[in-house]
Order: sequence, then structure tokens, then C-alpha cells
Amino acid sequence: MSEHGIVRYGNSDICYTVIRSARRKKTIEITVDGAEGVLVAAPLAASSDDIRNVVLRRAGWILAKANWDAPAAQPKHFISGETLPYLGREVRMDVFHEDVPGVRIRFTHWAFDVRVPSDLDGEERREAIRSAFKRWYRRRAMDAVRKAAARWQAQLGVCPARIAVRDQRQRWGSCAPDGTLRFNWRIAMAEPLLLDYVVVHELTHLLHRNHSRDFWAEVERVMPEYRIRRQRLKEIGPRLSV
Ligand SMILES: [Zn+2]
Repeated sequence: MSEHGIVRYGNSDICYTVIRSARRKKTIEITVDGAEGVLVAAPLAASSDDIRNVVLRRAGWILAKANWDAPAAQPKHFISGETLPYLGREVRMDVFHEDVPGVRIRFTHWAFDVRVPSDLDGEERREAIRSAFKRWYRRRAMDAVRKAAARWQAQLGVCPARIAVRDQRQRWGSCAPDGTLRFNWRIAMAEPLLLDYVVVHELTHLLHRNHSRDFWAEVERVMPEYRIRRQRLKEIGPRLSV
């Protein structure tokens, strides 16, 4: 069973996973991992209030390190010629304002065709387009994650109870005690190799509910070069957003 918590800091929610260890005597230590989010290593005896307070005290540092609240490298105006990442490639968008009831996005020949109601403008227009893109990426992510899971689960000898795609800010994926794997829709923006790494990582949690040596050995068995993918995801992760 994994132990989770959440603290509110400014406008941000920081979700964290607690990993308790008998070997750890006193200190509570926080790490921020591109794939896993915020991990808190704590002694068995630490109370959840103690842990919460440490997370809250270090919230500024955690957010800076996670960088999840930073806007995409270039805030989008959603005008023709701008690009968004999809499967590791920058995809150009063409934006048309016309008499349509809502924002419509089509992806054809590696370009986004975006139709926007002509009565929308300013922040309202940007929000409507941003939401439409999020929905679009969510569907694509669901499809890509399902296919990847189907490819890898036989090699690992596991079967997830359920796969879901969510708008989670601080992590790429998670594995719930009931065997449900959840993925961040932004993973559809990354190269398929990186999506595969996140899928393998979460599938492996069905065998090892921790980041023990055995866990990483299993990841390495099916994906020998996982370290490179993990590092790359850390580097580009903060830029994958709309
Ligand atoms: Zn993990």
C-alpha cells in the first residue's frame, strides 16, 4: 500500500508519496523525480503531520525543482504557425475563426487544423482552445498508453486492473493499490520511447510497489537503456504542456 499526501502552497497542490523505511532513523528526506513526482523518505515512526510539515517547509524548493508550474517554454497565443509537441515532434497549427459552435481540432498530415468560434477573443479564446487541445491529447494519450501497455505487459507478466489518463500535474504515472494505472495526458507529447518508459515503470509497480533494487532490476531487464529515457524525460518534461 502506498501512502500519499497533499499540501496546498500558494496556488499549487503538491502531491507526494511517502516511502517508509526501518533503516531510516530520524531524518525525512524529499526528492523530486521527473517520473514519480515528489517522494518523501521517512522513518517508520514519523507521523503524517511531521511529514506534512516537512513538505510544507520545503514547498518553494519542491515547486522550483519540479518546475511543473512553469508555463510551456513559450506561452501559446494559438495563432497559425505556432507549434505544439506531439509524439516528440513539433506540430504546426493553422487557426481559422469561423461560425462554429465550439473549438474543433483536427490532426491531418502532421498539422493541427483548429477552428475557433469567431465571437471568442482574449483570454476566453485562449482558454477554450487550450481545453480543446487537452481533450484531444487525453484521447491520444489513452490510445497510445493502452497500446504500449498491451505490448509490454506480457514481457513483465502483469495485467493492470484498469488504465486511466488524467490531468495530474506532478507526475507522469501512478499505480494504485487496486492495480489501476494512471497516466498524465502530457505523455502523448513526448517521444514514444519515453511513453514506453513511463508505461514500463508503472507496469513494474504491479510487481514491486516501491523503488527497491528489485524494482529497477526488473525495469532494466525489459528495458536495458531505461536510464537514458528517464533522464531525457526529466529534461524535456517541463516543456510538455499547452
Ligand atoms: Zn515509480
